Amino acid sequence: MSTSHDADVIVVGAGFAGLAAADTLVRAGRSVVVVEARERVGGRVETLHLADGTPIDIGAQWLGPTQDRMYALARRFGRATYPMHVAGKNVLRLRGKNGSYRGHIPFRVAPWTLANLGWAMARLEVMARRVPLEAPWTTPNAASLDQRTLGDWVRANVPARDAESIVRVGIESVFAADPDEISLLHALFYLRSGGGFDALTSSEGGAQQDRVTGGIMALAEGLAAEVVGAGGALRLGAPARVIAQDAEGVRVELDGGAVSASRVIVTLPPPLAAELEFAPALSSERAELLRALPMGCVIKCVASYEEPFWRAAGFSGAAVSDEGPVHVTFDASPASGRPGVLLGFVEGVAARELASWAPERRRAVVLERFAALHGERAARPVEYVDRAWISEPWSRGCYAAVFPPGVWTTVGHTIRRPEGRVHWAGTETASVWNGYVEGAVASGERAAAEVLSA
Ligand SMILES: Cc1cc2nc3c(=O)[nH]c(=O)nc-3n(C[C@H](O)[C@H](O)[C@H](O)COP(=O)(O)OP(=O)(O)OC[C@H]3O[C@@H](n4cnc5c(N)ncnc54)[C@H](O)[C@@H]3O)c2cc1C
Repeated sequence: MSTSHDADVIVVGAGFAGLAAADTLVRAGRSVVVVEARERVGGRVETLHLADGTPIDIGAQWLGPTQDRMYALARRFGRATYPMHVAGKNVLRLRGKNGSYRGHIPFRVAPWTLANLGWAMARLEVMARRVPLEAPWTTPNAASLDQRTLGDWVRANVPARDAESIVRVGIESVFAADPDEISLLHALFYLRSGGGFDALTSSEGGAQQDRVTGGIMALAEGLAAEVVGAGGALRLGAPARVIAQDAEGVRVELDGGAVSASRVIVTLPPPLAAELEFAPALSSERAELLRALPMGCVIKCVASYEEPFWRAAGFSGAAVSDEGPVHVTFDASPASGRPGVLLGFVEGVAARELASWAPERRRAVVLERFAALHGERAARPVEYVDRAWISEPWSRGCYAAVFPPGVWTTVGHTIRRPEGRVHWAGTETASVWNGYVEGAVASGERAAAEVLSA
């Protein structure tokens, strides 16, 4: 390989991890080429617009306390944040009947259910506190925690039927996967990484607190514009296929060309990184890690109405239901409250199934669920849009990769370990806010720092 390169560093992927890495590098005076498979930046973040111009975040949308990097980006690019509407009663639908509650905890369930819920959450939090975020594989008793699934733990520790339903909905909405697919060790790591079960599942004070005015994708576009403004190159529609390295540098072959540099930062979701061809081959441990990590699965479903009619009736728009395929909804209206927007998630196994349905059939089933939770008016939106992220060829699912049993304690230690000139970023490599945009940005900054000191 020649010693004259196209840039100092190649960044593969222009999601938040790749853009944060590139931004850090150009600010440090390095030259960068960012190569991105899609024709847009943002990756698992995308803002669409309804016919009336209302922005809809069809990928990630929320920020919450301690996600300081994301709030800093919002300030940097002049975007206000606003709290999601949460005032009013939340719907709790169990065994076919709607009830309601206020706040975060559904207090209006049987005392036994509530006690079991509280105990289970507290127990998980205590166990999670023992997981070292930088090295989950060194947790006391790691091998045994990593052999069990979160589902095994729930069956053994949450005997009250309604409590189990609520815990399962909570788990699904955090991981977008069935509890039986998730290693207990990974679940504990993930809980601690995001600050605990309450932080992960709460709106006020938690990960679902705030929205970005005009849509969160503007922050990715802002970063991309600054990278390009500082002389960085951004190649859209250019999937990387091969990464070759030798003593002189690294060469990335793309559809339509190749670029060379001293180092490369790969920021792809693990299933996509596993499809790259590496020369020489990756270490067997690292290759095994990439192959072993499936993505969670979500269909994000959004319906708009002339106004948020549930608010006038004293409801918040939030709902939790033990009936699928929509287990949770939220009020996703813009700050102005016009139009009213309801957001629902289909997650895990159900999302895999519904992703293969015709769009009209999916729409009918989702709106029927919205109506069961929020009344008949919810079945007649002005507009409806959904996105099955598992069908996105350059994401293959979301919110993030899920560690099945036995991965953290065998090959997990390679999660951030560079392979020669190849460095790794992406939310899946983050120790804090793993799975979230904040974790993606932190991972990009960390990988850039690694390259700068190499
Ligand atoms: C529906 C949904 C809701 C979510 N909600 C939230 C939320 O509210 N809050 C939150 O914090 N997080 C949320 N998330 C998770 C969040 O979106 C991700 O954690 C974050 O965006 C991941 O960023 P990343 O840069 O690590 O990866 P990505 O965004 O996946 O970036 C990787 C990039 O690599 C590109 N790429 C793939 N293959 C190639 C290739 N071969 N060559 C070149 N480029 C390639 C992709 O196109 C992509 O742009 C949500 C995700 C989804 C989908």
